[in-house]
Amino acid sequence: MFIGHFGIGFGAKTVAPKMSLGSLFLAAQFLDLLWPTFLFLGIEKVSIVPGATVVTPLVFQHYPISHSLATVFGWAGLVGGIHFLLKRNCIDAFVLAVLVISHWVLDLIVHQPDLPLFPGSVIVVGLNAWSSLSLTLAIEGSFFVFGVWLYSRATTSNSAIGRWGFVALVIF
Ligand SMILES: [Zn+2]
Repeated sequence: MFIGHFGIGFGAKTVAPKMSLGSLFLAAQFLDLLWPTFLFLGIEKVSIVPGATVVTPLVFQHYPISHSLATVFGWAGLVGGIHFLLKRNCIDAFVLAVLVISHWVLDLIVHQPDLPLFPGSVIVVGLNAWSSLSLTLAIEGSFFVFGVWLYSRATTSNSAIGRWGFVALVIF
């Protein structure tokens, strides 16, 4: 999933109003920030096959460290744990951990069956919404619009710069 992750980040502002949007986005996209690193190190593998899905030509051949369900719980614990150690705020740490896990759940909806349950797992899962462009747009769009709506209810901009900055960010 692409913009849907940002929708979840926006929406999380309702439960963690003091967290910066940047931190919420970082947690929601944490797995996709790890992924290029593991690709670069040769630990994970992707190939480009035009037409593999109607949405993306990427075929995720092997990504058990960044995107298996078991390791995702580990990454969530790490992100939440570091935040808790630094800020001593249980709720915010928990929200960040849930955001990290939410990435896998959203990927589960759109990916072809390629998400492992744990490293070495022969079972791979994915509901393959990426087989349909209209379905993908509907799902991604719903998550994004709902998240932005939650965010706009949870926050008030106290200047024109804040208002238009928010609009510019959403369009971007
Ligand atoms: Zn991902």
